[in-house]
Amino acid sequence: MTSNNHPLPLTEPYLQGNEIVYVTDCIRSGWVSSLGEYIGRFEQSFAAFCGTRHGVAICNGTAALHLALLTLDIGPGDEVIVPSLTFIATANAVRYTGATPVFADCRESDWTIDTDHAARKVTPRTRAIIPVHLYGFPADMEGLTALAAAHQLHVVEDAAEAHGAGYHGRRVGGFGVMNIFSFYGNKIITTGEGGMITANDDALVARARFLRDHAMSPEKRYWHPEVGYNYRLTNVQAAMGLAQMEQIDWIISRKREIARRYNTLLAGVPGVVLPPEGPGVEPVYWMYSILVTRDFPIGRDALREKLKSSGIDSRPFFYPVHTLPPYADGQSLPVSERISSQGVNLPCGPRLTDDDIRRVAEVIRSCR
Ligand SMILES: *Cc1c(COP(=O)(O)O)cnc(C)c1O
Repeated sequence: MTSNNHPLPLTEPYLQGNEIVYVTDCIRSGWVSSLGEYIGRFEQSFAAFCGTRHGVAICNGTAALHLALLTLDIGPGDEVIVPSLTFIATANAVRYTGATPVFADCRESDWTIDTDHAARKVTPRTRAIIPVHLYGFPADMEGLTALAAAHQLHVVEDAAEAHGAGYHGRRVGGFGVMNIFSFYGNKIITTGEGGMITANDDALVARARFLRDHAMSPEKRYWHPEVGYNYRLTNVQAAMGLAQMEQIDWIISRKREIARRYNTLLAGVPGVVLPPEGPGVEPVYWMYSILVTRDFPIGRDALREKLKSSGIDSRPFFYPVHTLPPYADGQSLPVSERISSQGVNLPCGPRLTDDDIRRVAEVIRSCR
C-alpha cells in the first residue's frame, strides 16, 4: 500500500535473511536453550566484525555492561565516569555493582562525553570511564584513551547504539578493555533481547564467561567458588543474531544513505541542527537525530506533535541521567540539559523509502 500517510515507525527490526531458517533449525534440533552451536558462531562473527579476538554473548546489553564491570572488579567504593546524556542503563549497570556513577557533561559538537569535563571528574576512587556512542556517533576515543592511560582507568565502551560505527578506520567496540553492545528489538541488529561483550584479553574473557554461568568451575561441574549470574543468551537468540550479522553491512549502509538524504533535504532549515559530523568519524545513525533550536518556528515538542499527526513516529532525546530521580544530585550539566531538551530522533529504519524521507522533511520544512 502506498497511501502517503502510512505510519512511519522510528525503527523496526529488519529480519529478511536466514533468521527463520536458523531459528527453525534450533527448534527442530531441540537446541533452544543456552547451549548450541549458534552461540559460538554468533560470538565469533560479531567479534570479527568489531575487530576483537573475543565476543561473549549476554542476555541483554545492560547485563553485558554489568558483567563487564564485575569482570573488571569494580564495586563498592569505586567511581565510574559516565556521560549524563545516555540511556539510563549505562548508569544503572554501574549502580548494580555498588560503585557510584559520576556524570560528565557532553560536547556541544557531537553530543558525546566531553573529555575535558570527564578529566575534571577524576578522583583517587575513579576506576573506569564509559564512553557512550550516542545514537551511533563515536565518542572521542583518542582523548578518552589518553585520559584513561594517564590515570590508569579502564575504558568500557557502551556501543549499544553503534554497531559498526567507524573511528579513524577502526570500528567501535575494540577501543576499550571490555566493550558492550545491545541487540534489543530497536537496535541496529536484534536478537529480540540480547547483548555482547567484545574484548581481546583472554583472562578477562574467561572470567566473564565464568561469571555469566553462575561462576561454575570449568573443571568441576556444580562447584561454584563464588556468586555468579545467569546472564546467558539462548541458542535461538544467537541463531537470529547470526542471520542478522549476514545483513549488518547492508543495514548500516542503508542507514547512512537515509541520513545523507535527510541531510540534503534539511540543510539550511533555520533552527534545525543536523547530526554531528567529524573528521575520521563514520556514524551509523541508529536514529537520525536533529536539534530544534530557538530559531525554529515552533518548539521541539510541538514539532513532534506535527509529525505525529502526519503518522510519523519520533522520539525526544534521553533526559540527562543526572536529572532522573535515582541519580538527581542537584548539579547542572548545561550542555547535556540543553541538547536533551532540543533533540529529536526521526525515523531511520532500513526500509524507509526516499518518499518517506521526503515526507518527514516536508513536515519539518512546512512548520511556521
Ligand atoms: C539499549 C542501550 C543499553 C541497554 O541495552 P539492553 O539490551 O536494552 O539492556 C545500554 N546503553 C545504551 C546507550 C543503550 O542505548
